[in-house]
Amino acid sequence: MDDRFVSGMAQDEDTGLELSLRPHTLREYVGQREVKDSLSIYIQAALQRHEPLDHILLYGPPGLGKTTLASIVAAEMGQNIRITSGPAIEKPGDLAAMLSNLSEGDVLFIDEIHRLSRAVEEVLYPAMEDFAIDIMIGKGPTARSLRVPVPRFTLIGATTRFGMLSAPLRDRFGIIYRLELYTPEELASIVRRSSDLLKVKKAEPEGLLEIAKRSRGTPRIANRMLRRARDYADVRNEGVLSAQMADEALVMNGVDSLGLDKTDRAMLAAMMDKFGGGPVGLDTLAASTGEDAGTIESVYEPYLMQLGFIMRTPRGRICTPAAWQYMKREMPGAELEGDGTEQTRMEI
Ligand code: ADP
Repeated sequence: MDDRFVSGMAQDEDTGLELSLRPHTLREYVGQREVKDSLSIYIQAALQRHEPLDHILLYGPPGLGKTTLASIVAAEMGQNIRITSGPAIEKPGDLAAMLSNLSEGDVLFIDEIHRLSRAVEEVLYPAMEDFAIDIMIGKGPTARSLRVPVPRFTLIGATTRFGMLSAPLRDRFGIIYRLELYTPEELASIVRRSSDLLKVKKAEPEGLLEIAKRSRGTPRIANRMLRRARDYADVRNEGVLSAQMADEALVMNGVDSLGLDKTDRAMLAAMMDKFGGGPVGLDTLAASTGEDAGTIESVYEPYLMQLGFIMRTPRGRICTPAAWQYMKREMPGAELEGDGTEQTRMEI
């Protein structure tokens, strides 16, 4: 588990409270405009035809609201949701039992679906396509397979690693959405709602915006920061969550004005000091920082790219001039590119 304060992955302190902060309808679900617009059309169409919704794949960094959206889809369809995850389904029989126990129209949510084993995935294919599973009867030469129907259901799969999904599984989803990082304004509206639910005594708009700006485009991080800032404001400022209180609380937790922490800075520093700012390949970067390549790619990098600090090129990652400036280091060759005067002089 990734226990950085600014990680989008769920942590122990999130578990209980997250349920109470979850929006329950598409209207309450902030942001992801395009996803919501198209989803609501599909939901209405499915309801009119009295059919289950097509299978949906949601992908994007952790904490962006994939589980929340799946629960909302089930609620809007008037159906129940069964939540599980790739690593929790160990054997084909586990999935077969789960599918047989669904009711007509139910939503089955599989988080981290890229971690399903091959054998389990194979049970899923006919279930998704034909609402049936193949059961082996008997052993050895007399074994035969029997096709049994399962209730018509909607599978919602979620993954942080789209590239790790097998092609046959990916192709069986009729609807595929990529969730985007949220804007500070959207995050401010999420923490405004959460601050009411968490009964923050007085949340000033500037205080909420400060949290929004530093939460890395991720609602889960924004809500976590809000809780810490609320505690801090309760003790230091009679419960008034001002911009200053938010700032002090976040600095105390190692978060800077852009929402970066020491792990981000160490990664940028490694790219600059060891590789001249890149291009550096993902695996090399992982080895030199001691972080997992997949985590760098799916958890740390998206925000650094949104900030415009890192770019992906065919030859690897590179740090942009903005990143060099932020790290207060001189970019090699910057003086040449600068305003072009040196270049001209050299050409003469
Ligand atoms: P994921 O499944 O992508 O890791 P979750 O759905 O568990 O993320 O979301 C984490 C928390 O963030 C939820 O408890 C919810 O309170 C909040 N959240 C996520 N997306 C939104 C949203 N669009 N609007 C409001 N709150 C959200």
